[in-house]
Amino acid sequence: MALDVVVIGQGATGSAALYHLARRGAHVAGIERFAPGHDRGSSHGRTRIIRVGYFEHPSYVPLVRRAYGLWRDLEDASGQSLLHVTGIAEIGPPGGILVEGTLASSRLNDLPHQVLEARELMRRYPAFHVPDDFVAVMQPEGGYLEAEPALRAHVALAISAGAELRAHERVLAVEPRGGGVRVRTDRGLVEAAIAVIAAGPWMNELLPDFTLPLRVTRQAVIWVEPRTPALFAPERFPVFMLEGSQGIHDGLPRHAKDGMKLAKHHHGNEPVDPENFQREVSPADEAMIRSAIAAHIPAADGKLLSAQTCLYTNTPDGDFVIDRLPGYPQIIIASPCSGHGFKFAPVLGEILADLALKGATDHDISRFRLARFG
Ligand SMILES: Cc1cc2nc3c(=O)[nH]c(=O)nc-3n(C[C@H](O)[C@H](O)[C@H](O)COP(=O)(O)OP(=O)(O)OC[C@H]3O[C@@H](n4cnc5c(N)ncnc54)[C@H](O)[C@@H]3O)c2cc1C
Repeated sequence: MALDVVVIGQGATGSAALYHLARRGAHVAGIERFAPGHDRGSSHGRTRIIRVGYFEHPSYVPLVRRAYGLWRDLEDASGQSLLHVTGIAEIGPPGGILVEGTLASSRLNDLPHQVLEARELMRRYPAFHVPDDFVAVMQPEGGYLEAEPALRAHVALAISAGAELRAHERVLAVEPRGGGVRVRTDRGLVEAAIAVIAAGPWMNELLPDFTLPLRVTRQAVIWVEPRTPALFAPERFPVFMLEGSQGIHDGLPRHAKDGMKLAKHHHGNEPVDPENFQREVSPADEAMIRSAIAAHIPAADGKLLSAQTCLYTNTPDGDFVIDRLPGYPQIIIASPCSGHGFKFAPVLGEILADLALKGATDHDISRFRLARFG
C-alpha cells in the first residue's frame, strides 16, 4: 500500500519531519542511507548552538521561539535532557555582522539581552581578551543542544508513533508518478503520495530535472583541553560566538569528558563533493581555528583531544530552502542549512508535516521560497 509520505534523509531535518508526520497519524516511512546519527553529513558533532536574537535576520526569531517549545516537548516525550539554556555571548566590533545583527533582531523582537563593554566582559569572564572597542551581546536564552541524542530521539519517537525507518538504504531516484511519487532505492521501490526530500549535502543528486543553487563546504571542528580548565567551567564561561579579524569563531564551555569545542563558522570556501572529501582534520584546519582562539581566548588554546569534519550545504543568501519542487507539488524539498539549521529542526518538522498533510503552514516561510533564486 502506498505511503502517505516518504521522508528521504534522517538527519536533523528529516528525523523531525518523520516524528511530526507520525504523530499526526500519517502512514510514513523514513529512508536513510546510513544509520540515524551517523557522521557523514551535517548533523553530527555532539552539540549545536541555539540562540534567539538572530543576527542572520529577525524573521527567524518566531521560528526559533517555536523550536524552543518543541525541543522541550521532545525532552518530555523522550525523557532526555536535550536543550541546555546556559546563556550565550556574541562578541565583536559594534558595527560588525554579529553584534549589529543580533542587537537589531533582539530589539525588534523585544528579546532579553544585555550589552557589555569589553572591560566588563573581561571582568566577568577573564578568559576573554578582546580589543577595548569590542562589545558583547549577552542573551540569557541562548545555549546548546545535544545533537545526535536529539536526532535519535525524533527517530525513536517517530517509530513508536508508527513510522517505518528504512536505514542503510540508499535512494537512487525520486520519480513523480501521476499525483504521487515512486522512490527507487538500492533495495527496491517505495510508492507514496508525497515525498519530503531532506537529503542535506546530497540534495541535488535526488531532485528530478532540477538543480538547487547549493554549495557544499567542509567544516572542521576541534575539542581541546584548555590550558586553565577552571576558567572554562560552564558556570564560569558562556557559549560564545566571536567575530574577529579572521571571521566568526564559536565554542562551548568545557565538557567534563569531551573538553572544549571550538570551530570557525563558514571557513570552507571551496565546494566539495559530499561523497569524496578530506575527512581528516588537517594541521592547517587546526591552526585556522587556533589562531583566533590564541588571540582572544589564549587560556583555551590547549591540547587537542579530538577533531571532526562536517558539511555545510550553503545557499547563495544563507537562508533555507523550504518549498515544493516546481511542476511537482507532491515533492517537498527541505534544505535548511548554511551552517545554522539544527536549532530549527523541530519547527521545520512541524512545517514539513503541515505542507505534506494540510497543503499549507501558518508559519511564515516566505523567506525560504525557491522563487527568490529566479
Ligand atoms: C560543523 C557544523 C556546525 C554547526 N553548528 C550549528 C549550530 O551551532 N547551530 C545550528 O543550528 N546549526 C548548526 N549547524 C548546521 C546544522 O547542523 C545543519 O543545518 C543541519 O544539521 C542540517 O540537517 P539536514 O537534516 O538538513 O542535513 P543532514 O544532516 O546532512 O541530513 C541529510 C540526510 O540525508 C541522507 N541522505 C542523503 N542522500 C541520501 C540518499 N540518496 N538515500 C538515503 N538517504 C540519503 C544522509 O545520509 C543524511 O543523513 C552546523 C553544521 C556543521 C557542519
